[in-house]
Amino acid sequence: MSAAVTTELKLIGHWIGGGPVRGSSGRRGPVYNPATGEQTGEVDFASVEEVDRAVTAAKAAFPAWRQWSLSKRADLLFRIYNLVDEHREDLARLLTAEHGKVLSDALGEVQRGIEVIEYVCGIPTLLKGGYTEQAATGIDVYSIRQPLGVVAGITPFNFPAMVPMWMWAPAIACGNTFVLKPSEKDPSASFLTAELLKEAGLPDGVFNVIHGDKVAVDAILEHPDIAAVSFVGSTPIARYVYETGTSNGKRVQALGGAKNHMVVLPDADIDMAADAAVSAGYGSAGERCMAISVVVAVGDAGDPLVGAIKERLPKVKVGDGMDPSSEMGPLVTREHRDKVASYLESGEAQGATLVADGRATAPDGGGFFLGVSLLDDVTPAMDCYRDEIFGPVLSVVRVPTYADALQLVNDNPYGNGVAIFTRDGGVARRFQFDVNVGMVGVNVPIPVPVAYYSFGGWKSSLFGDRHIYGPEGIDFYTRTKAVTSRWPDPATSKVDLGFPQTR
Ligand code: NAD
Repeated sequence: MSAAVTTELKLIGHWIGGGPVRGSSGRRGPVYNPATGEQTGEVDFASVEEVDRAVTAAKAAFPAWRQWSLSKRADLLFRIYNLVDEHREDLARLLTAEHGKVLSDALGEVQRGIEVIEYVCGIPTLLKGGYTEQAATGIDVYSIRQPLGVVAGITPFNFPAMVPMWMWAPAIACGNTFVLKPSEKDPSASFLTAELLKEAGLPDGVFNVIHGDKVAVDAILEHPDIAAVSFVGSTPIARYVYETGTSNGKRVQALGGAKNHMVVLPDADIDMAADAAVSAGYGSAGERCMAISVVVAVGDAGDPLVGAIKERLPKVKVGDGMDPSSEMGPLVTREHRDKVASYLESGEAQGATLVADGRATAPDGGGFFLGVSLLDDVTPAMDCYRDEIFGPVLSVVRVPTYADALQLVNDNPYGNGVAIFTRDGGVARRFQFDVNVGMVGVNVPIPVPVAYYSFGGWKSSLFGDRHIYGPEGIDFYTRTKAVTSRWPDPATSKVDLGFPQTR
């Protein structure tokens, strides 16, 4: 299965009402293979009318879809789970081809997305309401969860399969119909997903994909028939989506960018911490919202830790993600690679020590590569500390005490993930209590919650009040209704109950 392909460029269109639809706006964007730098495809950009067509299809499908019994819906979700599982390698190859991440990483992404589908196979249990018998004499009160209607998802380039799964799986499981606007940089995984959902038996119109840019996003945010919007992407756009969507009366959860710190205390296992910093800093070329970006070395940890990280860097093999020996692939675009590289220059100019320069070690050729890079002696005033770099650049900030480390993390405007490395359980517990960040790892560098918890940051990493997937995802995609009921006294019933008294 694949999107429509010409002899030259792969043409990627929308998916509306159960089938592929070529764009008619006349606007398109390029899709690249980041490992070679070649343009491999072209993706249609939707007009306002095309977005409306997708919403109309989703709206038309909603009444029948919400009638599906929970057991029938769960059956279908199991079929979707099995089909996505069977095609995990196909999905992963599309991710590597357009995003650049190495195949093993792409498979890991698909796996974490599949876990969300697995979680929502339990939708009959997840949608259980509450019941209070005899709240007043003869009166019962209960709550039920109902879907919202048409909901939309707007997703980033860095997890083109998993982040959409965080959204569409719980949304449709709850009985909503869905319009996805994936990143225009790596759109093919969404097309394959649509094909798989159809093959599994999802009714036409329940899942739709429209590609595009700001025009499509604004059309979603302004569309009167869209009840809720989930967004994952950078902080400025997350803020915009939240403000615009809510001012148009929509429920919005908008997850933004990050600057994740890894605090290493002097008592930590330095080898364990260095391994973690390397895998969490450079995995997926640092293009993960939970990537470690800043290592905070406390007290005496500094020298041994920087030494241990430096020693590991030459072993990270950078290359084409399709090559099984590669451990780190290219960045997503040339512009992004150049921007990431610019932080090495500005970091050095602002006083940091450039320990490893990825510009010198990047593979030759036209690919958008940058080698693993390490900046030491970074301070909070430097651009490389203040900005979300989103690339294979680790910054080391050295601080004297635990209290300084905590303050650094809490003063940072982002609050997505954080990790602490220590052998001291009491200090780790104190950190978990004190730190103003949504997801915390204790000797775990990337604490992405499993599917039955929910994912979300604090501060500028999330706008809205519901985290994504897990129980909060079910909350987000449903609204509750409380019913207060009274039945006529059974003593007045035409049925002979065999006893006369009223209770
Ligand atoms: P982005 O904000 O540029 O794009 C995200 C989505 O918004 C895309 O679908 C894009 O087409 C759309 N968009 C871009 N510019 C827009 C505009 N001006 N108006 C309206 N819509 C616009 O993000 P990205 O570069 O694709 O992804 C990387 C960012 O996402 C990083 O900041 C990363 O931290 C963040 N991210 C966060 C999480 C999280 O869970 N918090 C997860 C993954 C990625």
